[in-house]
Amino acid sequence: MRYAIISDVHANIEALTSFFESLEKHPVDKIVCLGDLVGYNANPNECIDLMREKNIPCVMGNHDSMAAGIEDLSEFNLLASDAIEWTRGVLTEENKAFLASLPDSIRVGRAFYAVHGSINDKDRYIYGAADALRNFKLLDKVKGLSICFFGHTHVPISYLGANESVRMNLDNTVKLKKGASYLINPGGLGQSRDKDPRGSYVIYDTKKSEITFLRVEYDIDATVAKIIEAGLSPRLAERLKLGW
Ligand code: ZN
Repeated sequence: MRYAIISDVHANIEALTSFFESLEKHPVDKIVCLGDLVGYNANPNECIDLMREKNIPCVMGNHDSMAAGIEDLSEFNLLASDAIEWTRGVLTEENKAFLASLPDSIRVGRAFYAVHGSINDKDRYIYGAADALRNFKLLDKVKGLSICFFGHTHVPISYLGANESVRMNLDNTVKLKKGASYLINPGGLGQSRDKDPRGSYVIYDTKKSEITFLRVEYDIDATVAKIIEAGLSPRLAERLKLGW
């Protein structure tokens, strides 16, 4: 099986559309999304509609939860919460209900586990070895799987866990080793934060036991123009261009 795993689409329809186009060159059997379909950018309904039309399984991100009114906005910084207020105003009732219906995690057979922030907590980041180690323990003991994909930081990275130690890896290709566990972040598709403004995602090829990180170019100028036109913060437009 070949899986494409995406995360943090954040209402960026240009990036989402370019991702689907890129699959013509990199065909997959199934797509899984790690949450945050909305927030920051200006096309939340269009992104949700496309994901629903294509029937792509998706976990609930913290922005999805806030936009659906499940969590309140007090935990968010102003830039994020203003965008969520705007998003709440434009989302259709049907799409709000869809966001509210998303699960906190998805277990894809015996292949992998999928979460937004970290295992058992969508709001918690995995940043560095200590966080990774805590999640490896949860993955092993609670879930009984050796691979978990997570998002939330918008930074592509993989962590290898073996014998209570953790190794961080920034390589574009990860060859999976028997007996090791992996935490993989595909990066942000709709808002990158590793100083490369292109969208980011991964393909997991189970037959080859290989995970590949891919980048996708999209029409950032169009996304930026929509942010400004919608009256969202120009800082959101600026960061998109910088990939930060
Ligand atoms: Zn996000």
